[in-house]
Amino acid sequence: MQVPFVDLKTQYRTLQAEMDAAIGAVLKDAAFVGGPHVKRFEESFAAYVGVPHCVGVGNGTDAIQMALEALGIGAGDEVVTAANTFIATAEGISRAGATPVLVDCELDYYHLDPARLEDAITPRTRAVVPVHLYGQAADMDPILEIAGRHGLAVVEDAAQAHGAAYRGRRIGTLGRCACFSFYPGKNLGAYGDAGAVATGDADLAAKVRMLGDHGSRRKYEHEFAGINSRLDGLQAAVLDVKLHHLDAWNERRRQVALRYEAGLKDVVGVPKVRPDTTPVFHLYVVRVPGRERVMEALRAAGIGVGIHYPIPLPWQPAYRHLGLDPKDFPACAAMKDEILSLPMHGDLTDEQVDFVIAQLREAVR
Ligand SMILES: *Cc1c(COP(=O)(O)O)cnc(C)c1O
Repeated sequence: MQVPFVDLKTQYRTLQAEMDAAIGAVLKDAAFVGGPHVKRFEESFAAYVGVPHCVGVGNGTDAIQMALEALGIGAGDEVVTAANTFIATAEGISRAGATPVLVDCELDYYHLDPARLEDAITPRTRAVVPVHLYGQAADMDPILEIAGRHGLAVVEDAAQAHGAAYRGRRIGTLGRCACFSFYPGKNLGAYGDAGAVATGDADLAAKVRMLGDHGSRRKYEHEFAGINSRLDGLQAAVLDVKLHHLDAWNERRRQVALRYEAGLKDVVGVPKVRPDTTPVFHLYVVRVPGRERVMEALRAAGIGVGIHYPIPLPWQPAYRHLGLDPKDFPACAAMKDEILSLPMHGDLTDEQVDFVIAQLREAVR
């Protein structure tokens, strides 16, 4: 049996008729950049998240950079984020011209540890970027409280958490704005790169839109030098089709997580779900001692596995210039050599999940 880590081929087969029609419509309209398909998806996604504004952009990394720039954050400013995240979070901060300030994670959920947040704040701090890593909500209430007390903007990195919720509130509605990625493997994925900024702030949305469209509101009238980072019509049409299936896929991910938990909790460290939150399990990350050997055994059995992420940011050559001491990140250090991501997506069958459980139990024996 083969169990792919993500299975976009099976997903396409289940959507083929709907998808081919949607793509055909864009081709017929020749509405490739901007246009009605982009507008429709932006409106549907804003409604899904529960905010008035959604601006489609080129990818999730740009979304973070542009959101910070639109907030007026840049050179000389500091932005606090989690030490264990995909590098894109920190890149968005650096590319905006600001300095990423990294905070260690909490070991239960692997999110930015609110208990360590206040120590990272200086007179130069302008924003906090909590990451809803692995499809679970970061601990937003204490983060929002601390940020509010210091006058900092909260920009959610929601790239792994489309549809997740925190204490009854949808991810994407909690901060000044939220940045989404629609990279193909995300819970809501395009057929190429795409991203969005969702916000309740009309001025901020307008600023992000101008930034991504050469600093212009009207064609050939440029108020400032922006960049080119827009959602294209084909990706918008693909995303609009998939958005209708997102809740069902997320529900299937939760069922798979329950099945993994029941089958594995006595042999590996299984993920905890933060109380009063709705997870969407972008990734299902277990902790196993002797990970390399276990990983090899699973791969040999035809099971796709991964590590998210093998090198936390304080250990990355790209951020050596920050002069960080890995000793200041004990939680990252404790998890980085044990985490292992199992296959997780909306098309997994019970048979595939049971096969992964059996093979993993065998490998750790
Ligand atoms: C995927 C991802 C991003 C960046 O998204 P891209 O669309 O690939 O640029 C940002 N943050 C996190 C946590 C991600 O997983």
